[in-house]
Amino acid sequence: MDIRALLENAGFAEGFVLPVAPYTNWTRHRQDGVFHPNTAPLADDPGAVYPWANAVLICVYPYTPYEDETLVASYYPASNRAYHAMKRLLVTLNENSVRAERAETPYREQLAAYGIGARMDNQLLYLEPYGTYFNLQGAMLALPEPVAYTPPRKPEEVCDHCGLCKTVCFGAIKGDYAFDWTRCVHTYMEGEPIPRDAMEWLPSLLGCMRCQTVCPKNPKTTVPIPNEIRETLDPVAVLQGNRKEAEPLIGKNLAAPKRLLRQAIVLAANRGREDALLHLFQLQKTDGARFKEELDYAISLLQKE
Ligand code: SF4
Ligand code: SF4
Repeated sequence: MDIRALLENAGFAEGFVLPVAPYTNWTRHRQDGVFHPNTAPLADDPGAVYPWANAVLICVYPYTPYEDETLVASYYPASNRAYHAMKRLLVTLNENSVRAERAETPYREQLAAYGIGARMDNQLLYLEPYGTYFNLQGAMLALPEPVAYTPPRKPEEVCDHCGLCKTVCFGAIKGDYAFDWTRCVHTYMEGEPIPRDAMEWLPSLLGCMRCQTVCPKNPKTTVPIPNEIRETLDPVAVLQGNRKEAEPLIGKNLAAPKRLLRQAIVLAANRGREDALLHLFQLQKTDGARFKEELDYAISLLQKE
């Protein structure tokens, strides 16, 4: 069985088969409160959680950013495609008699620890030739033989601490690898009300790509936003209630009203979309309490214009 061929067939560019080991540094950082609380379920000692496994498979799904990242950020549509690629890969691994299960472990930390990628000040991992434009998906495997791994690449410092990402950030990037997750807008996609200053700052639907697009180390190739994404994820289209169309593009979790709709309310206002007002008033009647902060912000902003 050729794992490389299987993962490429599923849609990944490459993958790494690593030994199962605890990630003690990462655990220490998590205990120190460095990471977002949603890292709590991640298995930092995969050997304890998956005792049957003798290898960790981490697959790389690169993507090309959009020409205009201020409308819709390209990361989440790519991460949804990557999720489905892993689903396909798990099926074929199982068909090839390899027990394989999707695993939530700190993949970026694993690749950095093996010298495969380099940590950057924007808290992302840099991997040649994709820069930071990729999504990682991982699985635990029971292979016929345990793996012994020799890193094929030499660990190196890539981030030169130029400070550009810190300049364009909402306040999360502190420089010299320090990061305050409470000030990264991706934190506000968990379904809680978005803080007022973050609403004023929110640059695009589905989070933010600023620290990636500004980074001089990243590739500069871009693609136009696919029409389907542009039309479906237009904030007014989202306000009109197109969840069913959004789900195949970004996944069920992200398309949930508490995430997508909440952001669309804010983005419609930030873009001066007066055609949103009618829908915002309607939402006030049906979901007024749930989205109170965002609706108050959006309606008052649009009525000022
Ligand atoms: S923009 Fe500069 S400081 Fe930020 S990650 Fe890129 S190289 Fe590092
Ligand atoms: S995604 Fe946006 S808010 Fe988060 S670290 Fe990057 S620039 Fe800052």
